Amino acid sequence: MQTLRAIEAVRQWRETVRQNGQSVAFVPTMGYLHEGHLQLVKAARAKADRVAVSIFVNPLQFGPQEDFDRYPRDERRDERLLIDAGVDMLFLPSAEEMYPHGLTAQQTTIQNNELSGRLCGASRPGHFTGVLTVVAKLFHIIQPDMAFFGEKDMQQLIIVRRMVDDLNWPVQVIGVPTVREPDGLAKSSRNVYLSGEERLAATILYRALQFFEREVQAGERDARRLREKIVRFITEEPLARIDYVEIVDAVRLQPMDRLHGTFILALAVYIGTTRLIDNKMMTLT
Ligand code: AMP
Repeated sequence: MQTLRAIEAVRQWRETVRQNGQSVAFVPTMGYLHEGHLQLVKAARAKADRVAVSIFVNPLQFGPQEDFDRYPRDERRDERLLIDAGVDMLFLPSAEEMYPHGLTAQQTTIQNNELSGRLCGASRPGHFTGVLTVVAKLFHIIQPDMAFFGEKDMQQLIIVRRMVDDLNWPVQVIGVPTVREPDGLAKSSRNVYLSGEERLAATILYRALQFFEREVQAGERDARRLREKIVRFITEEPLARIDYVEIVDAVRLQPMDRLHGTFILALAVYIGTTRLIDNKMMTLT
């Protein structure tokens, strides 16, 4: 695996791969890798000749009160995991490489006008503009044929897909199912923030998704009433504080009255001071 820190070096790598007539799959990450990231790599391996991964904790997508400074990092371990996973190229840029004029001088950004204000975007103003801008930059640098994103961050996957569609980008965006711990907690780099007691309480998100699924399968179709039931279910966990609980359609992420078509239960819940997200998509035919 080649570890490259300079954009210019990545461009040369890409050019060589192109000359060899090989396809490139790309997996963007913020590092501190776990089995979820490695599943994306595995899916990428299966689809393309070459796999590129980036590790970049993107300051532009963190709010001023958020965890940018303490976000967990371990480059050595990440590199080893990616070598073992058969990755061809790791792009590991510095903030200066990505934002040479400085963060506040990044005048051009990419904004989704509707979806980016919903769900996590309502709680984290500017977050998705930061995500889309860095993904756009990475797509231009790496020029992948396809890119892999986790369904764990379903809103991100939907917004990136929409960017590619709206801007006629020749990149195939592929979603990968959420990888979970044995007790259902979605794997996340942020799980290391949880204390022992909080770690147990954190299963409330997955249990809420299961409750939702059972209710829908039992015939519940009133989305507002179901949402209220889920809120009550989560509130029974004393360490949990709800940021949002929403049942939305899978295209515009708008709240629904009656369940139909494809819809998503999206959750953001604080366990102590750690904000966790999870979601479940279902389709009624
Ligand atoms: P992150 O490093 O948290 O920004 O995540 C990088 C990519 O990995 C994103 O596309 C995430 O959606 C995906 N990802 C993170 N956690 C999981 C998980 N538990 N299962 C599947 N994909 C995940």
